[in-house]
Amino acid sequence: MSQQGYVAAPPYSQAQPGMGGYQGGFGAGPAQPLYGHYGGQPQAFTAPPTGMMKSPVSSAAGMPPPPVSSQYNPNIQQNGAHPQRYPAPPAASSAYGQPPQSPYNSMPPAQQLTNQMSSMNLGNYAPGPMQSPPPPTSSVVQQPFQTGPPPTMGQQQMPPGPQTPLMHPQLSPPQLSPTSMAMGGPPMTGPPMTGPPMAGMGRPFPGSPPPGPGGFQQSGPGAAGPLGYQQQAGPFGGPMAGPQPGMPGGFPGAPGGLAGPPQKKLDADSIPSITQVIEEDQRIQGGKVYSTNIRGQVPPLVTTDFSVQDQGNASPRFMRCTTNTLPCTADLAKQCQVPLATIIKPFASLPKDETPLYLVNHGETGPIRCNRCKAYMCPYMQFIDGGRRYQCGFCSCVNEVPVFYFQHLDHMGRRVDFYERPELSLGSYEFAATLEYCKNNKPSNPPAYIFMIDVSYNNIKSGLVKLICEELKTLLENLPREEGAESSAIKVGFVTYNKVLHFYNVKSALAQPQMMVVSDTAEMFVPLLDGFLVNYEESRAVIFNLLDQIPDMFADTNESETVFAPVIQAGVEAFKAAECSGKLFIFQSSIPTAEAPGKLKNRDDKKLVNTEKEKTLFQPQKGVYEQLSKDCVAQGCCVDLFLFPSQYVDLATMGDVPSHTGGSIYKYNNFQVETDGEHFLRDLRKDVQKSIGFDAIMRVRTSTGFRATDFFGAIHMNNTTDVEMAAVDCDKAVTVELKHDDTLSEETGALIQCALLYTTIGGQRRLRIHNASLKCSSQLMELYKSCETDSLINFFAKSAYRAILNQPLKNVREILVNQTAHMLACYRKNCASPSAASQLILPSSMKVLPVYINSLMKSAPMVGSTELSTDERAHLRLSVMAMGVEDTQLLLYPRLTPLHNMDVSSEALPAPVRCSGEGLTDSGMFLLDNGHSMFLWLGQASPPDLIQSIFNVPSLGHLQGHMCALPELDNPLSKKVRSIIDSLLEKRPNSMKLQIVKQRDKPEMFFRQFLVEDKGLHGGASYMDFLTYVHKEIRQLLT
Ligand SMILES: [Zn+2]
Repeated sequence: MSQQGYVAAPPYSQAQPGMGGYQGGFGAGPAQPLYGHYGGQPQAFTAPPTGMMKSPVSSAAGMPPPPVSSQYNPNIQQNGAHPQRYPAPPAASSAYGQPPQSPYNSMPPAQQLTNQMSSMNLGNYAPGPMQSPPPPTSSVVQQPFQTGPPPTMGQQQMPPGPQTPLMHPQLSPPQLSPTSMAMGGPPMTGPPMTGPPMAGMGRPFPGSPPPGPGGFQQSGPGAAGPLGYQQQAGPFGGPMAGPQPGMPGGFPGAPGGLAGPPQKKLDADSIPSITQVIEEDQRIQGGKVYSTNIRGQVPPLVTTDFSVQDQGNASPRFMRCTTNTLPCTADLAKQCQVPLATIIKPFASLPKDETPLYLVNHGETGPIRCNRCKAYMCPYMQFIDGGRRYQCGFCSCVNEVPVFYFQHLDHMGRRVDFYERPELSLGSYEFAATLEYCKNNKPSNPPAYIFMIDVSYNNIKSGLVKLICEELKTLLENLPREEGAESSAIKVGFVTYNKVLHFYNVKSALAQPQMMVVSDTAEMFVPLLDGFLVNYEESRAVIFNLLDQIPDMFADTNESETVFAPVIQAGVEAFKAAECSGKLFIFQSSIPTAEAPGKLKNRDDKKLVNTEKEKTLFQPQKGVYEQLSKDCVAQGCCVDLFLFPSQYVDLATMGDVPSHTGGSIYKYNNFQVETDGEHFLRDLRKDVQKSIGFDAIMRVRTSTGFRATDFFGAIHMNNTTDVEMAAVDCDKAVTVELKHDDTLSEETGALIQCALLYTTIGGQRRLRIHNASLKCSSQLMELYKSCETDSLINFFAKSAYRAILNQPLKNVREILVNQTAHMLACYRKNCASPSAASQLILPSSMKVLPVYINSLMKSAPMVGSTELSTDERAHLRLSVMAMGVEDTQLLLYPRLTPLHNMDVSSEALPAPVRCSGEGLTDSGMFLLDNGHSMFLWLGQASPPDLIQSIFNVPSLGHLQGHMCALPELDNPLSKKVRSIIDSLLEKRPNSMKLQIVKQRDKPEMFFRQFLVEDKGLHGGASYMDFLTYVHKEIRQLLT
């Protein structure tokens, strides 16, 4: 790979150019090396005007970092007692900070290593007799794949052999000639679905690079773009290893048919399978209680059903990490290029059997915090001096214990009230905030919800306005309320609009609602204060009256133009006047073309796809909306946008404010009440009832040696440390990248504390604290062992989706491939036992990473296809930015569940199968869901009795095309299928519209594009081809 100028750590590089220098022979000088994320802005906004700085609110959760001296001196000793900041408690009594106490981990290191080595060679993952094959006799023979061994007994938390050799070259004889292999992935059933290769490339997979300094620069006919693409791409996360030239093809699709070495067909069933990994974890950890008492332990997968017992670290429902063992040094991090990040979902929903967070109230004193770094009292504070002082686990500062908080220590040095205080014994809890944590030092008001309905022609004609008004009558009865409160404290208000805005006075004393029109949309103001935001229960009669009247009032409208930015502005002004935070529910059908601030025009241009300017399709229009986002965040105004477009609406711009205010964007193309009404209402109900916090500001603190450097989410950043969110609900997650400042200590580990200051739905100001402790190691093996692929893919998806705002798609795809190959090659080089280069050896924790990376590269935003709608791509991009680990996992690997052969009497759900067309059978019925779309696929030979049972028609031919719900039939199969669908709809954050597709019917292609192991419909490789390609890259890196 030196040929390609791959520069990382000494073992790989021939030339070892320095960070800035570049001496490789690529035929071109260096472009500006990019560090971090492609040189893109780490935040969405530039530095704020000083006037924008948030007041005392910011200072609460967002205090300045500790003095530099302490950041860089891990051994600073305030008490002169111990060399380490936070001595680990004695093993016998330790709840935290101790390494895992499994037999495995208590072995002496040498023994451990031996065991790992021997387990590596078990090779018993694959079916068949081959346990440990002899090394291939020729380097050109087959490419046996190695994949995971089953977890060893008794070592549930951490598979012993972090690598998973599966060696069975003999088990998968070549099935296709090299030439056939070059044709692409597995055969597809149905109509030709192979699709074009990625536009802009001659062929999907560049073959082996031609010899010479040109590297991949001329990969063959059709390689578009300038020869020798110069732009350099840095890896996602992790320090920049050095310049990496791109492959012109950019998107591997199939093994090189022109220049590549002969490749043998791999056995599709033997390559690592996500469904198998999921099943395995469910089998081992499903139904069990996961205790969070061990530092750095790897939690069960997000797909596994398990309960959590908080024993000093936050539940994985709140925080997950890309790796639970940080490398001790920046050099190690650079060497492996494994991104270091934590994904925080501060309001994650907890199952009923888990305890909601405790609220700690210290009265007027407020929460106890370290004087220097302002970290909040937590299990990582070490009490000393008979309990009179405590040493901060984050910055080592020794603080006095306030008199009211004093408590004696027991013989173990632990406070005797340890178990009585959540902040001493739990990973997650809340503090009641004092006035100094409130805006202007005044108690905060309960939030308000404003429903803003576009009453232009389209929405009236489709029946949407009537539907919304009807639904609101029941929805408002179910507004969220504070725990234990009799009624909701949330105030409500109503606006309708087209080119002008109509405000309604719904004061309880009125007999009839009153309308006030504001037609000057350039200077938006709220024409009434009293009577606009009201208590629903008090004003119920007037509100019902209004909701009955609205559809009729505009029944004869001809107005088709709308405004948009003034609508949001009106909401912000209303909250300002009422001194509250809250949420706007905006129901809009079209692009705002009326003369007003924020007017938009159609700028969709498919000609830009696959050009340097493609990124502009994702970029929002600057100006009005940028300022509006800032205004919204400053006021705690979250915007939820429900779009009902029949054509392009410039979603990238319209979604800009929602995506910076913790809001959600929903889209219903060509909305019809009959087919989409219920789907939309499910979303609306879920959205209104979600648990949520308002006017939030989050700060992530770390122990010395590393820190949070970058943040991804539906957030706004005014500075480099304070994550501001107008609101944050139970489905929103912030992905936080971590980087080294200094060396981390294996002894003390690494600590993270996330503090979220927010206003509850009842108007209380609180701090929600989540703590996590990670292990640190100078052994790369330890790091690879504790990686979480699901978290890694969340980070990669968000960083790639942000990168495409500033970089050509093909660069971003290249980085994904390069970094994947690099991470796996580094493992092979440093952690795996010696074996033939032709064997693909993957770390157990990452064995399915290539499937996800390949799926990510084929996702709509990343694939340059003119067949995809620009709004659709922008929508998915924005949605993913706010997703947690579960949601990105499901999105990138949809569940494909066979329903035709299940046991209808069983409670259990049928097991999903690999997400590939290969498993579909002509007489089968399969359900596919990815959290956004849901399909019921029917094989063309589906038995009539099955069709009768589900649809109440005699055969497939009688099935109507546009059915969006299954009829309620009284037979076991129908009941079972409907209950499976209902439980999925219940479980997922968003509603999904059920689409029924028949094998070989035209709409089947919409379904096929979600079969992510197959070759992409709009370009992109099959999983098999991608893995082959990655393997080749790895081999090049190792030579
Ligand atoms: Zn501190």
